[in-house]
Amino acid sequence: MREKPIPYGRQNITDEDVAAVIETLRSDYLTQGPKITEFEEKFAAYVGAPYAVAVNNATSGLHLAAKALGVAPGQRVIVTPMTFAASANCIRYCGGDVTFCDIDPETYLMDARKLEKILEENPAGTFAGIVIVDFAGYPHNLEEFRKIADRHGLWIIEDACHAPGAWWTDSAGNRQLTGNCRFADCTVFSFHPVKHIATGEGGMVTTARPDLLERLRLFRTHGITRDPSLLEKNDGGWYYEMQELGFNYRLTDIQAALGVSQLSRAEQGLRRRQEIARRYDEAFSGIEGIRTPRRTDDIYHAFHLYIIQVEDRKGLYDFLRSEGVLAQVHYAPLHLMPYYRRDGWKEGSLPVVEEYYRHCLSLPMFPTLTDEEQQYVIDKVIEYVKR
Ligand SMILES: *Cc1c(COP(=O)(O)O)cnc(C)c1O
Repeated sequence: MREKPIPYGRQNITDEDVAAVIETLRSDYLTQGPKITEFEEKFAAYVGAPYAVAVNNATSGLHLAAKALGVAPGQRVIVTPMTFAASANCIRYCGGDVTFCDIDPETYLMDARKLEKILEENPAGTFAGIVIVDFAGYPHNLEEFRKIADRHGLWIIEDACHAPGAWWTDSAGNRQLTGNCRFADCTVFSFHPVKHIATGEGGMVTTARPDLLERLRLFRTHGITRDPSLLEKNDGGWYYEMQELGFNYRLTDIQAALGVSQLSRAEQGLRRRQEIARRYDEAFSGIEGIRTPRRTDDIYHAFHLYIIQVEDRKGLYDFLRSEGVLAQVHYAPLHLMPYYRRDGWKEGSLPVVEEYYRHCLSLPMFPTLTDEEQQYVIDKVIEYVKR
């Protein structure tokens, strides 16, 4: 047993990060100041998107995206079941209904063929949009999903909480950065400490659509605007209008300062994640009973998670815990949560994701994982699988 257990993910805070936060604490603005705009502009440039809107967490970002796209009672949206609850809950917050679509057994992402099947089996107009997730950091081929969405008049929210900095290759051979919004209507990112960029709590929504940008900003601050071009009347310099029922989903400048500082090291963190993934791949190749994640040359995997599949997952999980390795399971499928079972989902509804869930385990994956720690994890996994 190790003195200090090894977690599956961990933030990396440097002296520069601390200094950036202190500088903002001593400045004129703790919220709604210049650091928010700087973070939004730099993040948009990082993912190649025209616009970015900073929010207090990704759950809020997903809610804003759903609101901006007009999700309302009576609407139905197709969502992947292999994700954190927020990817589907954002539709329920707006009163919409959720249909889950099973995953691809190789990539663990929503299966495009099964999506088409659901769309073909239901009357036109049944669905308003889809929420896809770049699960574990594996970037979706959005060209494929955009074609399907366009044929059926759907919007796309891409939950890229696992995948800032990832890219995929389009049919013309161009690299497309996750979140650039050439194909998705909105993309949402999280800055929770286990994610690539940490601000404590925080998130970002990117879009290429000026109409959505306006609505995201409106809903972020109570539905209130001061923009003279949007006001219905103007009583004077003090005057603002509440035009929609919005929220307070703002990020603080303190967090944005941390975000800007973290973002400057994002590439470095991704490279380290690639190294760690390669080392796991090599260590487990040829070991019977361990399935490593799929990776191909036409994508850049962001490796938020490094997930293996083993026969006796519970046994390995318990053994690793007892040896000081805090491996995790991502995730119990969403359609089997008690809340979504109330819609009639049950065991057997989505066989591929349920089979994946029986075997998956996320091993420690974060840039400051040391070689010694990783070797310890590798040795313990192999020890268990070989016994
Ligand atoms: C972390 C995460 C969220 C929620 O992010 P918060 O910033 O904690 O609200 C949503 N979707 C996915 C896929 C996530 O991993």
